Amino acid sequence: MKVLLVFAHPEPQSLSASLRDVAIGELEAAGHDLRISDLYAMGWKAQVDRTDFPALGPGQRLLPVAASKNAFATATLTDDVKAEIEKLRWADALILQFPLWWFAMPAILKGWVDRVYAYGFAYGVGEHSDTRWGDRYGEGALAGKRAMLIVTAGGWEQHYGPRGVNGPIDDLLFPINHGILYYPGYDVLPPFVTYGADRYDAARFEMAAQHLRERMRTLETATPIPYRRQNAGDYHIPTMELRDGLEAPGASGFGLHLRASGPKK
Ligand code: FAD
Repeated sequence: MKVLLVFAHPEPQSLSASLRDVAIGELEAAGHDLRISDLYAMGWKAQVDRTDFPALGPGQRLLPVAASKNAFATATLTDDVKAEIEKLRWADALILQFPLWWFAMPAILKGWVDRVYAYGFAYGVGEHSDTRWGDRYGEGALAGKRAMLIVTAGGWEQHYGPRGVNGPIDDLLFPINHGILYYPGYDVLPPFVTYGADRYDAARFEMAAQHLRERMRTLETATPIPYRRQNAGDYHIPTMELRDGLEAPGASGFGLHLRASGPKK
């Protein structure tokens, strides 16, 4: 498989970087082709602004969605963004790796998504009608590819459990897994999350490394999170609300968007 790993940590000697190297070692040993986007090392520009759209005339109002649509359609996106889109098209699997900062990804990685996920590429794709609402949530430019997160978190595993004060980790990662990865079509694998990351020692590192190696070995075969397909009949169109009665008993909130059981539609 061809694998793109997008890495967001400023310190080459960090725990995150050590875990990244474990993942790289395992993927290379398995014979996968690998490309890395190390965002801090690349000096990645995080913010969307008018320099992203060279075709915009001086004094012309910046409408980010319209500017993105035009730049993608006319191939006038900036070279750094074009290079990342090319990597996404190349890769069969995408890994996003980051430390959990304020319950989310570091700003540099969010800015990578904001800039690389252009209109016409990652969103604004496909027909909107009575039977479809665009190519998204399981369909889209990146359908057929796999994606997963590698995350380090300072809090304890229990803090992110079903009753933990931080909120369940699957809920916190839902906007990334469902909103950023599933949206343009990826099959999203369960995340690799390691907790208590600020109090690591050699023994903890070796345990986490073993688990991570196993996850890398199963990158091609692991069962994706069973998110519902948007255009397969589970949602009313165009309100995009889940039809009554499809949810698993007791499911609510983000959990509504998981298929209870049965084959992928
Ligand atoms: P590092 O800081 O590089 O290292 C962490 C520890 O691991 C150190 O003790 C280091 O000595 C040790 N270590 C490093 N490499 C190795 C190795 N190879 N072998 C053994 N030990 C090693 N946490 C949350 O849970 N929720 C949040 O919302 C949250 N928000 C944050 C916001 C900010 C701005 C910051 C700075 C931190 C936040 N944290 C949060 C904590 C954060 O998630 C952790 O600091 C981070 O995940 C640790 O990963 P790292 O790669 O930065 O580790």
